[in-house]
Amino acid sequence: MNAVPTETESRKLLGRLRAAMAEDSTGQARLDKIVELIASSMVTEVCSIYLFRDEETLELCATEGLNAEAVHQTRMRLSEGLVGRVARRGKVVNTADAPSTRGFRYMPETGEEVYSAFCGVPIQRLGTPMGVLVVQSKDAREYSEDEIYALEVVAMVLAEMTELGELTSNDDFVMARHQQPAMFRGIVGQEGVAMGPVYLHEPRVVVTNPFSDDPEQELKRMEDALDTLRISVDQMLKGASSKDELEVVETFRMFANSRGWRKRMEADIASGLSAEAAVEKEQSTARARMSQVPDAYLRDRLHDLDDLSNRLLRILTGQGERAEMPKNAILVARNIGPAELLDYGRALKGIVLEEGSVGSHAAVIARAWAIPLIINADNITTEALTGDMVMIDGDQGIVHLRPDESVKTAFSDKVAMQTAAQERYASIRDEPATAQCDSTVALHMNAGLMADLPSLPSSGAEGVGLFRTELQFLVRNQMPRRAELVALYQRVVDAAQGKPVVFRTLDIGSDKVLPYMKPNDEPNPALGWRAIRVGLDKPGVLRMQLQALVRAHKGRPLHVMFPFVAQFDEYRAAQAELDKALERERILGHALPSEIHVGAMLETPSLAFAPRKFYEEVEFLSIGGNDLKQFFFAADRENERVRRRYDTLNVSFLSFIEQIVARCVTTDTRLSFCGEDAGRPLEAVCLAAMGLRSLSMRPASIGPVKHMLRRVNLDEVKAVIDTARAEGHQSVRPAVTEFLRSRK
Ligand code: PEP
Ligand code: MG
Repeated sequence: MNAVPTETESRKLLGRLRAAMAEDSTGQARLDKIVELIASSMVTEVCSIYLFRDEETLELCATEGLNAEAVHQTRMRLSEGLVGRVARRGKVVNTADAPSTRGFRYMPETGEEVYSAFCGVPIQRLGTPMGVLVVQSKDAREYSEDEIYALEVVAMVLAEMTELGELTSNDDFVMARHQQPAMFRGIVGQEGVAMGPVYLHEPRVVVTNPFSDDPEQELKRMEDALDTLRISVDQMLKGASSKDELEVVETFRMFANSRGWRKRMEADIASGLSAEAAVEKEQSTARARMSQVPDAYLRDRLHDLDDLSNRLLRILTGQGERAEMPKNAILVARNIGPAELLDYGRALKGIVLEEGSVGSHAAVIARAWAIPLIINADNITTEALTGDMVMIDGDQGIVHLRPDESVKTAFSDKVAMQTAAQERYASIRDEPATAQCDSTVALHMNAGLMADLPSLPSSGAEGVGLFRTELQFLVRNQMPRRAELVALYQRVVDAAQGKPVVFRTLDIGSDKVLPYMKPNDEPNPALGWRAIRVGLDKPGVLRMQLQALVRAHKGRPLHVMFPFVAQFDEYRAAQAELDKALERERILGHALPSEIHVGAMLETPSLAFAPRKFYEEVEFLSIGGNDLKQFFFAADRENERVRRRYDTLNVSFLSFIEQIVARCVTTDTRLSFCGEDAGRPLEAVCLAAMGLRSLSMRPASIGPVKHMLRRVNLDEVKAVIDTARAEGHQSVRPAVTEFLRSRK
């Protein structure tokens, strides 16, 4: 063996491949032609292509040099042989002495024992393994770097063609990657079932032509695209205001100006790839590396490079403009913030995230909209394409992408069962949530947008127990004016038709960042400058909001609640602001609300231990269980890893709730619970058993919670909880679940 393919060689090879691909032939004929071309161009005795038959099995699909009969007969598990090793690790194996290399598996049917040299290159697209390209020869030699490079370029083209179904279209054993049904297991963020077309938050770019027609022209395209990219990154840099943001953009800039990155892509183009294929080739390599890098910081940087590559691909292909959202769309994203989610609006039927967290505000919104949400669905953004059919089983945490008929049938059955349950809940809509022991629990709903209000009569809620006013700030591009707020709050109160609406003043900060406000650079935003802390330190917006609330309630009862109060002083200061707003209205001669009810959210453990005087002064408290729980357990509500360790039905937490209830009883302070747990039937029953007589939840939970409460005796549930506590159990969940099951 002596011919070493230069860049020109590999360009020639790609040129020949393209000519072969242009011929109207079957997938198999194409594969045969490709291995023949590679073997002759590289002057190597064997060239073979192995593709995945399923996730675990590789199959020999074409060979030049090995026994022809072995094609489609020889298969190996991912854990087997050198070929398996290449696919598993996504890395080249290059050895002069294959039989004595670790992992070698002898396959007699191929007759390969006579070949000493082995070089296997992964066929992968954006880090997803698709197969392996192998060359072998009798002489004991290692393949040169140039040869390996040429193989990698070809492997890149093979991956694109496999992706597009051009190699396997006439072959029933492997469908094109994005046509196969796929299933994902994630974590349930919101229960329910939904079915509809995928809508990718960040559309993927499909490279339709991996070959370069004219390298000169491709280089020019690449240069222009890089210029455009650099300009957009510089603009991002100007717009960045927080340290985190700056850091990300600086890294972007570093990559965008990286000579190494550019040089590699230029070499790819010189070897016959189109500009977009060159970007994708380097992106694939980076992704493969990403999965192997243990250091989180470095992985993040590789993620940045990945994002940058996507941007470059969009510039080059002009793709990536958001398609129009189809009807019944299911949003698929790597992650999403609450403002972006609100932008999509209620037309969405479900959400699937690759990352995300159950405690995030995006999840809160999904729950408010009563649409199923699955988080931590690994790789879904790589697999799904906009328009693919997807079914979410939000009860099991399963997502079916491009489901087959049997899945579709099972799914329809599930939808029918859910509809039947909804009918059951509708039949008790106007009944009270009175338990078997005769205690009645008032059920209210959480809301935040005008669009939530129609659920008030249909859900059977007694009122709105928590109106998250910040959501209306989040959906806008600029700070609303006072007059707009007045009009908005008036419409909310009108729509409630006399039912009480508890307006919580702005709770911004933490993960709720207003797009038009300078974000704060804080190491720990959940413990940072948020909610009432912002309201008191920079009272302009709080004052405007309080004035708007007062004005919108003239002649009607006003309910105001302050978020995230940690100590008595804060409550007093906030109340003083409200008093000022009332006084101002009075001086202006405007009509005042007919009644004024002021309360606070109990979201910090400190407030549970506030002086008795606080409890006497505050008219009502609402436990914000989402935040309270994260501070009680010191477990970030947005960090799935720690959040899931601690159960709401943990005896310590329930005992804490019980103490708060007891304090409120002694001071006659009205108490409610408005965290997400109020909307989960089992949790709701336990909270009621601890003495809570008012719960506020997403509208869709009212039916199931009421149904459950009406069936149980809270004294009996309390006895079960007490026994579990006395026995030293960590959580009362198993005992209460068992008790409720036995009562069915
Ligand atoms: C809570 O913390 O429980 C709560 C209701 O507030 P939010 O989820 O909006 O922080
Ligand atoms: Mg909160």
